[in-house]
Amino acid sequence: MSNSVNKDGTPDQASQGSVDPVIVIHGGAWAIPESLAAASVEGVKQAARAGQAVLQRGGSAVDAVEAAVSLLEDDPAFDAGTGSVLNAAGEVEMDAVVMDGKTLKAGGVACVQNIKHPVQLARLIMDKTDHVLLVGKGANHFAEEMGIPTVPMETLVTETARKEWERFMKYHETIQDLFSNRDLQAGCDTVGAVALDKTGNVAFGTSTGGITAKRPGRVGDSPIIGAGGYADSQVGAVSSTGHGEAIMRTCLAHHITTLMQTGQSADSASKSALDHMTQRVQGSGGVVVVSATGEVVANFTTERMAWAWVKDGELHYGLDPGQHEKECL
Ligand code: ASP
Repeated sequence: MSNSVNKDGTPDQASQGSVDPVIVIHGGAWAIPESLAAASVEGVKQAARAGQAVLQRGGSAVDAVEAAVSLLEDDPAFDAGTGSVLNAAGEVEMDAVVMDGKTLKAGGVACVQNIKHPVQLARLIMDKTDHVLLVGKGANHFAEEMGIPTVPMETLVTETARKEWERFMKYHETIQDLFSNRDLQAGCDTVGAVALDKTGNVAFGTSTGGITAKRPGRVGDSPIIGAGGYADSQVGAVSSTGHGEAIMRTCLAHHITTLMQTGQSADSASKSALDHMTQRVQGSGGVVVVSATGEVVANFTTERMAWAWVKDGELHYGLDPGQHEKECL
């Protein structure tokens, strides 16, 4: 069954419940080493299946991205929740966000500590407060108010993250290099999801530990609306990954939806916006996109990006440029 939108671009409410749901996942755009390749692909495939199960049961796009991103936050192969990288002080500070394309409501956390599922805290900010973004201690106080338990930092830190941090602290004393040198982006693998639900609404969610040895207090693109993602059910949804400072400076996700609004396909809009980011600020990254009509895309300018989507009963996935595998569900 094809998805349809009204002339004004809103989902066709007459076909409520008849839209084919779609979910697209990314596991971070960077030079993923062979040692992490299989786990990264397996992780995004599982998250795509879990998110699609929520959509098939009639769950909303927001429910689906929250479920998928929560699963990835539990997977130590990714730099989000458990597996987060360490900042220059050797601590975990995480950023996460969700956005509902129907209402344009959003919730985000930045520099939050000791929380197992930052994306769930972001969802509570969207649902239970009048704010969009809470940072640091304020975000942690809100978590406490909501009854979300804190976890010891060590439970979020993997051996890989600790070793990566030691390597950076030893060899790269100029932290600024991290943000201007593409080669130093090792250890980053943010997670994200976009979904289109049965009622034709879209949502996105993104979660990250950021970049290894970042300055304490540094906030990347992920929780910033329009940079780390954007969702508008009249157009589509985007989740970004890559060099956060470059993504913020070019408002990558909003750039893509703006191009889509002028009639470009999700594929062409995401390629144009990523090219623009390369040309204007020499930044590399990747995005997953779903349009309001169900077009799905995973594009990146980094060496690799783990991605997976479920559409029309098939699971699609890939890691290397041009790689596109398919399995029946
Ligand atoms: N965009 C994230 C950040 O800069 C990192 C990543 O996507 O790998 O915090």
